[in-house]
Amino acid sequence: MSFSTIIGQEQLKRRLGTSLAGDPGHAFLFTGPTGAGKTLVARAFGKALLCQTPSEAGACGQCVACRLFDEGVHPDWRSLVSKDGKGIRVEQVRTDIVADVSLYSQMGGRKVYLVDADHLNEQGQNALLKTIEEPPPHVCILMTASGPERLAGTIVSRMAHFPLARSTPEELRRILTGAGISEELPALPFLLRYARGIPGVALELATDTWFIQVREEVLDRMASVGEKDRAVLLTETYGFFNREKDHADTLLDVAGTYVRDLALVASGARETLLLNADRRGAILDLVRRNRYDIAQLDRAGAAVQHARRCLTLNTNFETTICSLLLQLRKELAHA
Ligand SMILES: [Zn+2]
Repeated sequence: MSFSTIIGQEQLKRRLGTSLAGDPGHAFLFTGPTGAGKTLVARAFGKALLCQTPSEAGACGQCVACRLFDEGVHPDWRSLVSKDGKGIRVEQVRTDIVADVSLYSQMGGRKVYLVDADHLNEQGQNALLKTIEEPPPHVCILMTASGPERLAGTIVSRMAHFPLARSTPEELRRILTGAGISEELPALPFLLRYARGIPGVALELATDTWFIQVREEVLDRMASVGEKDRAVLLTETYGFFNREKDHADTLLDVAGTYVRDLALVASGARETLLLNADRRGAILDLVRRNRYDIAQLDRAGAAVQHARRCLTLNTNFETTICSLLLQLRKELAHA
């Protein structure tokens, strides 16, 4: 696993390569949202720190250390994760790291520890503090966290910080197809933008049949909301939202992307910016046929946002959704 197997993150890979070529230091913090690829990057760097012939491109992939690492049995590599969802226990930190760092490395090189800091409480951090302040020369500690604020300032100040970048849609496409997602998936162009640059989110949604289907249904319903009979809207369409009540925020997010796409077309923006690119023809047709103007689409978009906020504030579900549907019916009325 040299750095070249990581798609994107070019600047971060260059920094890691430069650090490998010199004296890398002892403590490294990788941050980014869930699904950004922190563990993947931290493992690639950990492997390079253990490799017998590393280069600026990362681990060689050929030496004994690399082979042991790939098999998951490198004796000088420890990974601390929350085993039962209850977080990393302070005893785990004491035995697996604090007591272990003073022992010699078994392969004669570095000893490298990876800690999932999102699951490390204050006690656990305190237990690690001294090791991070005065690490034995052969010890490297790598941490992953959703953000540096997850950790005490005294710890962060002693670590080299490597924030992960958001992936571009093209990088996401390479990651998804590399993971076996078909280029032919109609929702693919949508996912590449909807995932907001987070590979884990894109991968999860691309393999979530519920999401793929419910998105289609929301888009169909949005396309016809302006011609629906009022009574049908308040029974049948509302019934759909009610069935998916637990995921209403996702449904409203998707509805919001549709209104945004209508507004993009109405404002004459480039069609390549459409989120729901697989619905391009229908979206163009709808805007043209009904002569939607920006003001009414803005109101429709604001109504979706408003409903989204109301749900987070626990307002009455039926009232919120029904008044949204009625407003969408008015703003998106078919000519
Ligand atoms: Zn190697």
